[in-house]
Amino acid sequence: MSHASFPNPPGPLSALFAAPAADPLDVLKRVYGYDAFRGKQQAVVEHVTAGGDAVVLFPTGAGKSLCFQIPALCREGVGIVISPLIALMRDQVEALKQLGVRAAALNSSLSREEFFAVRDAMRSGDLDFLYVTPERIVTDGFAELVAGARIALFAIDEAHCVSQWGHDFRPEYRTLGLLGERYPGVPRMALTATADPHTRDDIIERLGLEEAEVFTTSFDRPNISYEIAERDQPRQQLLRFLSRHQGESGIVYCLSRAKVEDTADWLNAQGVRALPYHAGFDRAVRDANQDAFLKEENLCLVATVAFGMGIDKPDVRYVAHLDLPGSVEAYYQETGRAGRDGLPSNVWMAYGMADVVQRRKMIDEGGAADEIKRIERAKLTALLAICETAGCRRKAILAHFGEAHAGGCGNCDTCRNPVETWDGTEAAIKALAAVYRTGERFGAGHVIDVLMGTVNEKTERFGHTEMPVFGAGKDIAPRIWQSIFRQLLAMGLISVDHSAYGALKLEPEARAVFRHEREVLFRKDRPQAGGRKARAGSSPAAREKSNLSGSDLALFELLRAERLSIAKDLDVPPYVVFPDTTLIALAKERPRDLEELLDIPGIGVSKRDRFGEAFLAVIDEFTD
Ligand code: ADP
Ligand code: ZN
Repeated sequence: MSHASFPNPPGPLSALFAAPAADPLDVLKRVYGYDAFRGKQQAVVEHVTAGGDAVVLFPTGAGKSLCFQIPALCREGVGIVISPLIALMRDQVEALKQLGVRAAALNSSLSREEFFAVRDAMRSGDLDFLYVTPERIVTDGFAELVAGARIALFAIDEAHCVSQWGHDFRPEYRTLGLLGERYPGVPRMALTATADPHTRDDIIERLGLEEAEVFTTSFDRPNISYEIAERDQPRQQLLRFLSRHQGESGIVYCLSRAKVEDTADWLNAQGVRALPYHAGFDRAVRDANQDAFLKEENLCLVATVAFGMGIDKPDVRYVAHLDLPGSVEAYYQETGRAGRDGLPSNVWMAYGMADVVQRRKMIDEGGAADEIKRIERAKLTALLAICETAGCRRKAILAHFGEAHAGGCGNCDTCRNPVETWDGTEAAIKALAAVYRTGERFGAGHVIDVLMGTVNEKTERFGHTEMPVFGAGKDIAPRIWQSIFRQLLAMGLISVDHSAYGALKLEPEARAVFRHEREVLFRKDRPQAGGRKARAGSSPAAREKSNLSGSDLALFELLRAERLSIAKDLDVPPYVVFPDTTLIALAKERPRDLEELLDIPGIGVSKRDRFGEAFLAVIDEFTD
């Protein structure tokens, strides 16, 4: 598991951790190289260090790891971290080791000797962290392992997996409710980036955390730029989007496995290095592709939603959706994988009416109870409303999570290129009338043919050419009608009936429009949505880096090359060595000696001792 060339240091720091009175701020500085806690980190750390239970609901990138790591280091004993995926534990353990922290993961690939080594280290107080899957923690083997060891705390990561409400439900998480009874007096923490109240209540109830203090913070991700486009020529649109991210890594989400593979093939043919990932591949392929994504700096991972949970890669610079997710929650979680390091990142989605029909089909044909289906339909409509809003996307997204945002964020497509609206009441009435007159039995394509007065086999066969609405919408282009129908869906004035092959139906709210009691404003779609020229050229992250002067940027690239070479030696992802933010600071500040290195954010004592000389040499040589 650990790698030969830079062995885990025998901890000059261990004395620090062993002292029960270790000061959180001191640990933050010495181990992590940061000067100050962010937001509510300090409150969480103090509460748990003092022995309290906590539920931590912070968005991705807010710094949840430190919330459990620092209390575990400050308290006596080993911190037990429950994490859903073995493959990801490995990287987290590796990252801790690079910080000079003694960590291990308990998984089935451990040999007996390794298992005993972990046990002995725990008993003698020589292990700071143990990562475990939820399946394992309730086994007798685990009880035997920790017997005689002191436990600093339990941290339940990705705690939303306990809830059936979300889409990452993991039944094994339910058993974690037992921890409180089995290990009384040991603080327990649940951490997640899933905010909705339903999931939160599930976490508290299922994990027996009624007494825990709940810490929440704003869910805004200001460094993420949102963009949602009408799907037109999806591959070309995608390519335009990716052209802003040359040399960077990101994720492209597709709904189906076939589309994942096709898209990855196509991207490779276009010269974009891409790898596919979905649950249909063998584990070995999945692990290899995931590993490549973590370790390479220029890779597009094309995936179904099977990919992403717990991915800690901080420099995911973009997330693209080629298909509409099922809910705002899913969209938010998937896009949230971008920009964990706080540097500018782009998320982009292309969608169209076909997605809505497809999603409805998935809901309607799914095995869920009627009540759940109703909720899922409502969730879909909520996402549609965000897609079709003429206002600030960020405001609309945060409003969905019950958070007020003033709007005008300046970092979403609608803020950057304000969308005009037009009074579409008359057009809406025509559209609704066409749906009604044709018997609520047809999809948007046919209803638009009727509105346009298109004579074809179908309009003739059903006698629709004889109706007053036939040709009543000729003054509006078919593309605009498509947009109108999507917006009517988003407004809840019509719905898609999947059981009737995607037929549009009127919703009760449509009545007010017919009666001229309700005005309808539509957004004006831009002629060529998606990947427009507005921000062509370099990516936002590259622009951030180019805030560096010419020579700082050159130095940054050299430091990046050094990082990559160390990472390769260690067989770890580059960000485990240092995040980009640290390299940027190094390029700007140009520290001259080991002492000055400690002033750079992200460089603590252990990393200074291990990597400091190598990076100082790069800076030295460059500055001479
Ligand atoms: P989360 O788990 O909430 O998504 P992480 O724990 O991965 O977030 O932290 C995101 C990034 O922010 C990491 O690169 C981490 O080192 C950095 N970070 C966390 N806390 C601080 C802090 N107090 N000061 C500076 N950087 C921090
Ligand atoms: Zn905005």
